[in-house]
Amino acid sequence: MQVSEENQQTLTQALDKLGLRSTRQREVVYSVVGTAKDHPTADEIFARSRQQMPTISLATVYNCLETLLECELIRQVNFERESTRYEPNLKPHAHFYCDKSGQVVDVHLPEDLYSRLTELLPASTSVSSVELNFRGKLPNSPENHQN
Ligand SMILES: [Zn+2]
Repeated sequence: MQVSEENQQTLTQALDKLGLRSTRQREVVYSVVGTAKDHPTADEIFARSRQQMPTISLATVYNCLETLLECELIRQVNFERESTRYEPNLKPHAHFYCDKSGQVVDVHLPEDLYSRLTELLPASTSVSSVELNFRGKLPNSPENHQN
């Protein structure tokens, strides 16, 4: 997997805003998370990053992930009792976690749903983020899905 020119430009610009520079490690980690559709964990991102850069360490991957989060290029997805996952999809959406396979899939919600949910809060409440997670079993999910 190659770092696309477009991805690289997005990364450089986002890092620049924070006064940081683009490094090969950051490029590799961003190319892995930026193209991932499966909400990988840090361990999975580490394994995929090593295919492009065998010398990269897990600590470096964690540092890069922190930087990418700061730059708001990726976001974290958390489920109770599960490792943190990462994704490039920054648009508001919910997640479904399959207890059987461990798969995480995006759930697209109607645009007005978030404002309707916010209306349930006391007036003048300020909302910084909303997390909506479903758990259950996907139809025909393979048992113990690993990667
Ligand atoms: Zn997602």
